Amino acid sequence: MQFALVNGNRTEASKGVSAVCLGCGEKVIAKCGSVKIHHWAHVSLCHCESWWESETLWHRQWKEVFAPEFREVSFYDDALQEFHRADIHTNTGLTIELQNSPINYEELQSRECFYPKLIWIVNGLKFKGFKILKSIPNPLNPLLSDYEFCVSEHLSMIRKFDALAENPQPEVLTFYHKELKNIPAGSEFYSFSWKHAHKAWLGASCPIFIDLGGHFLYRLRKRHQISANYNYLQLIPKKAFVNKYRL
Ligand SMILES: [Zn+2]
Repeated sequence: MQFALVNGNRTEASKGVSAVCLGCGEKVIAKCGSVKIHHWAHVSLCHCESWWESETLWHRQWKEVFAPEFREVSFYDDALQEFHRADIHTNTGLTIELQNSPINYEELQSRECFYPKLIWIVNGLKFKGFKILKSIPNPLNPLLSDYEFCVSEHLSMIRKFDALAENPQPEVLTFYHKELKNIPAGSEFYSFSWKHAHKAWLGASCPIFIDLGGHFLYRLRKRHQISANYNYLQLIPKKAFVNKYRL
C-alpha cells in the first residue's frame, strides 16, 4: 500500500514509522528497502484484502497519475466480510483496477460485480505470445455490416449470409477483394494474436485497457458475430485516457 494513517493523516511509508491500515484498521509498518518500492505492509496476516497483489513500480506509476485522494480507496464487502481496496476510485464513482499478474475468472467476476463502474488497466508486457498484427478498418463501420471477421491471424472476412446459413465452406475474402478493398483501414484499430491468452481477460465485461509501455493503451474490444466473436484492439493515447478519467 502507498498510504496508511499516521496520526489520522494519509501518509506515505517512511523508515521506522508504524501506522494504521486505511481498510481494516490493523497495524502496518513501513517497508523502505532498496529493492521493492517503499510501501506499508500489515504486521500480521489479516482478512484485509484477498484481491490485493503486491505493489510494483508499474502500479505506483499509474496511481501517481491520479490525485492522492483517489488512490487506494477502501470499501467493505458485506458478502465476503472483508475490505477491498480499489487502486483508484474517483469522484465520478469510477473504479480503476491495475492488474499486473494473471487473474482467474472467478476473481475477475467478483470484482466486476463488486464495483459498479469498473475499468481495468492490465500490464500487457507480462502477456506471453501477445502480438499486434495489422491495422484494420473500424469493425463497426456500417460498410462491414454484411460481413464477419474470420478469427485468424490473416485478416479476412466471410459474408454474413454464409455465417447465417452455417455454410461449412464460405468464400473467404481478403481486403484486396473488390467488395472490401475500398474500406479504409486507418490507424485506430488493430488485429492481434495471443498464443497463451488469459481467458479471463477475454471474458471480462468491464472495459480493459492493455498497457504495453509507451504513450498508448490498447483497449481490448469485441465484435459480436454469428460465426464467432472477433477480438481486436483500439489504440488510445494515454493522455486522452488520463484526461477522460482522472476527475
Ligand atoms: Zn488492512
